[in-house]
Amino acid sequence: MSPLQNALTQLKKAADLVKLDPAVLEILKKPKKIHQFSIPVKMDNGQTKVFDGYRVQWNDARGPFKGGIRFHPKTDLNEVEALSFWMTIKCAAVGIPYGGGKGGVTVDPKKLSTTELERLTRGYTRALKNDIGPEKDIPAPDVYTTPQIMGWIMDEFSKIKGYNVPGVVTGKPLEIGGSAGRGTATAQGGFYVLEEIVKKMKIDPKKTKVVVQGFGNAGANMADLCFHAGYKIIGVSDSQTAVIDKTGKGFDSHVIAKMKEKKGVVDICDCDDLKCSCKDHIHITNEKLLEMDCDILVLAALENQITKKNAGRVKAKIILELANGPTAPEADEKLFKKNVLVLPDVLANAGGVTVSYFEWVQNLANYYWSEKEVFEKLKKIMVENFDEAWKIKEKNKTDFRTAVFALALGRLEKAIKARGWA
Ligand code: GLU
Repeated sequence: MSPLQNALTQLKKAADLVKLDPAVLEILKKPKKIHQFSIPVKMDNGQTKVFDGYRVQWNDARGPFKGGIRFHPKTDLNEVEALSFWMTIKCAAVGIPYGGGKGGVTVDPKKLSTTELERLTRGYTRALKNDIGPEKDIPAPDVYTTPQIMGWIMDEFSKIKGYNVPGVVTGKPLEIGGSAGRGTATAQGGFYVLEEIVKKMKIDPKKTKVVVQGFGNAGANMADLCFHAGYKIIGVSDSQTAVIDKTGKGFDSHVIAKMKEKKGVVDICDCDDLKCSCKDHIHITNEKLLEMDCDILVLAALENQITKKNAGRVKAKIILELANGPTAPEADEKLFKKNVLVLPDVLANAGGVTVSYFEWVQNLANYYWSEKEVFEKLKKIMVENFDEAWKIKEKNKTDFRTAVFALALGRLEKAIKARGWA
């Protein structure tokens, strides 16, 4: 099923559980507005290439649209719609005053030079100049978009307005209004959720084997946090390869440091051959990585990684979703029956957008907080909403995703009714 079909299946299930007003459900099933445009970019060789760009504004009942921009060769409107819907649920689930939106450009940014990437980003911003802004819609990073890209968006938008508008975008470099802690916030938020589960299930990190799929901002920082908390990291992957530990002890600090240094790339051999098998580790496929014998599987790559095909072979007891939409609904059912606890994306990766919210608040106030303050505030939000959703899960004997959706739908329904839309 497509990401959007998956998203709407999840919505229907939770709507049934909370007996959502049918009019509210109809509103939440559709985006409020879709922007689709082409972005011509002068390439370094003098030729012009035209890229497809999107911004989907799903719902703004609870506040301005909010969500990242994805630059990926496989992104399309269907995916951006799903991501935009999930942002609506996510912001409501953690109770921050935003609706949901998402943007995308179908492009492989690894194939562009820095100057081409800058022109593309500025073109994207100009295409949306009337549709984004601190009170309307606030973009942020997502897959393959960086603080530097957010900096260009802020600059282009500010030039159009004629004055500085830092609050138009979050995830910016610190020097131009970024927030302390935003860089690691997605993983940090996921880690707070994990800590709550660890307490509940009396898990000993030292005896716990962790596998991390995806080594972008979320995955790499999560591996680092888990490693320093004493977990055994026994497998990691990026878009090219997966590496697993052969020693049985988990990767050591040298390997973890090396992976971090390589930024987004898990290959830790010195021999530059992706297929090599050095002494302490071995390369396997991404598919096999997901089926490894481990306790916690962190999904930090893309959608539809666990499907009805491989769900039966998953051995992890806990799945933590730092990616958006990595588990398909049919897989969710199988995992629930197997007693695998899925910590769903719309809560587990909400640390990113929550610190984006803090960034935006700081931009509007022109008053900046320390990283300590940011993480204290983040922890409070993550833990409180985790607790509320957990209560719903226990009361209804449902899966955790449906419980988090139920929490979010309650808030969305109240806002939609208070506005008189239904
Ligand atoms: N792209 C991130 C997400 O999917 C962050 C969005 C934001 O900060 O607005 O939640």
